[in-house]
Amino acid sequence: MDNGPRRPINKQRDTDVNLRVAALMGSNGQWDVNKLQLLFPENEVTRIFQMQIGDVADRDIWAYTPQGAYTVKSGYVLASKMKEAEAVRIMESAPGILELKRHIWTVPTIPKIRNFLWRAVSGALAVTERLNTRGLDLDTRCKVCKSAVETIEHVLFKCTMAQDAWSIVGLQPLPSQMHLSLLELLNMYLQKMSDETVPVLQRQAIPWILWTIWKNRNMLLYADTQESLIIQIQKAVEEANLWKELNTMQPTPTTVNGLNEETKKWDPPLPSYVKCNIHANWRNAKLHSGVSFIVRDQSGNVLHHARDANTFSPNRATAELRCLVWTLQSLKDLGYQDVVIGSHFREIVEAIKKPLEWPLFRMFLQKINTFCGMFRSVAFELETVSSNQIEREIAKSVLRDGRFQSYLALGGPAWLHQRILRDALLISS
Ligand SMILES: [Zn+2]
Repeated sequence: MDNGPRRPINKQRDTDVNLRVAALMGSNGQWDVNKLQLLFPENEVTRIFQMQIGDVADRDIWAYTPQGAYTVKSGYVLASKMKEAEAVRIMESAPGILELKRHIWTVPTIPKIRNFLWRAVSGALAVTERLNTRGLDLDTRCKVCKSAVETIEHVLFKCTMAQDAWSIVGLQPLPSQMHLSLLELLNMYLQKMSDETVPVLQRQAIPWILWTIWKNRNMLLYADTQESLIIQIQKAVEEANLWKELNTMQPTPTTVNGLNEETKKWDPPLPSYVKCNIHANWRNAKLHSGVSFIVRDQSGNVLHHARDANTFSPNRATAELRCLVWTLQSLKDLGYQDVVIGSHFREIVEAIKKPLEWPLFRMFLQKINTFCGMFRSVAFELETVSSNQIEREIAKSVLRDGRFQSYLALGGPAWLHQRILRDALLISS
């Protein structure tokens, strides 16, 4: 959805910038479809067509309310958005920020912490100094040490709490470094990760330490219970080490009850296993979602495929989990014993791995767990969009073509024959 008014996208590269609306109207005063189709792609033509035109005088229209009239509320929302965009622009124009952001995606740590680092660099952590740039008038002093303005670099490096945390690991910033900016400090600490003069246990834990400092600050501010900083830092160092060990181990082939990393092409299951790729096509909470699965053997031959329409799900995760429950039930009924479930929906795979972290979905996760217990072995694999294409197409066809009847069939759907064949051929390549 567009947030505001914009030009339609043009079909041709060279466009007449002085073109007026009147030139797109026919002699009857209505839109001239042929002219529109000549200049704009189909979706834009549809949008333009929805605009009412007629024999009325020109006037200014406020584009940010459904009725086209100005309201104070919509004006305020627009003004705050512009202010926020301005702040982001200033942050983004700082020298070196792009390089640092690019570097963050390669930092050896878990995605959650990479995401946190990204937010720190983007000025998107909710410290009081940042909140005030959004028009909140808060006392900007750090609540922990009460001695300085609470900026992101203060929280992560300069606050007494942060200094304590860094000195527990033996990596505290020197007094001469205390004037450095957030970008300089982050750069310096991320560089330290590959500095071989620093003991490996310490330097590999740097992202985890930053995350711990941030979590601890939030705990001090908002939580009733507190955990000793020393223990938290020890845990962070252990976690970093464990993660490092797990990630430098040799990759194992498809494992039972394990999780595999993403792959580009469709990977076949081990002999005697079947692999079942699933997909739920969720668009919004008001529409049905299309669900599908396709079961293939180690050579890529389709054994079964099925499609169904589910009633409304409030969000994508629910739609995918319902799809998984339905799939497991069906696979059980079909008598499969050793299965690998492939989904490109990362959250599903995460939720199954750590059900305690997904309390909202515990009902589904419990059901899934019970079903899994009925098979000899079940493994879950994360697919990429490209390796999960066929079941995606089938699920999409439910909404796109209005195929609401459910069905289960032997073999694959004829209209996707070519793609199934291609996946099968890729196995040997
Ligand atoms: Zn402080």
